[in-house]
Amino acid sequence: MKIRNLLIDLDGVLYVGDRPIPGAAETLAWLTRRNYTFRFISNSTRRSRTAIALRLARMGLDIRPSAIFTPAAAAAAHIRNLGGSVVHLLATGDVSFEFEEAGLVCRQEGADFVVVGDAGDAFTYRDLTLAFRNVLRGVPLLALEKDRYWMGEDGLLLSAGPFVAAIEYASGARAELMGKPSPDFFRMALDSMNAIPEETAMAGDDILTDIGGAMECGMQGILVRTGKFRDDSLRNAPRAPDAVIDSIADLPSFLVGGSKP
Ligand SMILES: [Mg+2]
Repeated sequence: MKIRNLLIDLDGVLYVGDRPIPGAAETLAWLTRRNYTFRFISNSTRRSRTAIALRLARMGLDIRPSAIFTPAAAAAAHIRNLGGSVVHLLATGDVSFEFEEAGLVCRQEGADFVVVGDAGDAFTYRDLTLAFRNVLRGVPLLALEKDRYWMGEDGLLLSAGPFVAAIEYASGARAELMGKPSPDFFRMALDSMNAIPEETAMAGDDILTDIGGAMECGMQGILVRTGKFRDDSLRNAPRAPDAVIDSIADLPSFLVGGSKP
């Protein structure tokens, strides 16, 4: 079936660190000209969507916050739907804004949910222990993402996954996953553009959460060789992507030519 819609990952696909991937802006302009519908689906848990859009604008990428899907926004909606009001949040940056904007209170005492994102340098032994104690008391654990690692400016960095796993291991509880590859998360983004998976492709640099997750939902998976891409993770992937392209700059020629790996 012809691809009419795209889900595009941000980190490692449109930029690495503070540098845009060459050709990223041109590809987005091309997609707009050709009437493709597209949304951005990111496991970034260090910034609110507003802050992400501002950062993208500084890199010359014009993307509105409402076109961006993040695990924090999905978690806030999920918690509200379940009637929760207090969130014990382990995250960094202005991610708490996403929860406060949804009318939730972020504090450790009396928490209805423990939410773990990528807290980076803000993760301390004390923070993890307090989260563990809340979970042990029966407070449900939500993982904004369970990625293993990501590509920072000075090399690979631990994502939230290893820390979520630590709390799970200690408490015996299982986290509910909000970000990619959760099918609910992909569905939220698809629904926002009235898209069916069969006419949608996901472009990402993570063979498991982007590509595997999207293909599991019936979308095509297009892996880019930028960001965290590694030859060995492609070789060892449980499922081969539908296509591998050098970077997002090659997306137009793939969509026109349909070249396969
Ligand atoms: Mg990525």
